[in-house]
Amino acid sequence: MFTMAPVWFSLLYFFQPVTILIDAGHGGTNLGAEAVDGTWEKVLTLDLAQRLERALSVYPVRTEMTRRQDVHVGLWRRAEMVRQIRPACFVSLHFNASPLKSRTGLELYFPREDLAKSPGARLRAPADGGLLVEGYLSRLQKETWTVGSRNLARRLAWRLDAAGFRVAQVAPAAFDVITATDTRALLVEGGFIDHEREGWKILEPAYREQLAVNLARQLATLCIEPVENQITW
Ligand SMILES: [Zn+2]
Repeated sequence: MFTMAPVWFSLLYFFQPVTILIDAGHGGTNLGAEAVDGTWEKVLTLDLAQRLERALSVYPVRTEMTRRQDVHVGLWRRAEMVRQIRPACFVSLHFNASPLKSRTGLELYFPREDLAKSPGARLRAPADGGLLVEGYLSRLQKETWTVGSRNLARRLAWRLDAAGFRVAQVAPAAFDVITATDTRALLVEGGFIDHEREGWKILEPAYREQLAVNLARQLATLCIEPVENQITW
């Protein structure tokens, strides 16, 4: 009887494809960083999010977006969508800038473990309403959130690296948008838009398409895998 479990799992995933929630960073009055030509980060993140959604449409996964237009979506609204949609993966898309204007490369961030460990740490007064966050996470929730996210980030980094993208950093972070979720969460900084070479490269639609296609290829396989496998991996 128990030997049938993997078959049931496969059927379950076949008939109920997992959802990837794509988050285009910033939007509306929240402009984000400024690119070398004056383009705002919010424009580029929405473009990349739409390209990623299109690229994912050829895989057996569902996609949802936190925004489809140039509108302001509060951080807590984004987190609330994670709780409502319960995606297998939450991927927040951003582009980077640095005061030195000399840094380059992609950066991948996953939620910082100590935030999951301290009960109540995720209870924050929502400025824009409506988020219910429990103070205590179950063991599985914690593992999903921390180990699952970390392994997702690391594996994605290796695969992007192998596909020719330079991943400069994979690190834990306390960004609210990924720490306020209880699913596998990842923040992708798609390169430095204020760098004199990388910035212009990112402004080319062909480059963003290439990045979206590669992100889609890897996320489709990594997110479809049950998180339990990635925890023990
Ligand atoms: Zn950003």
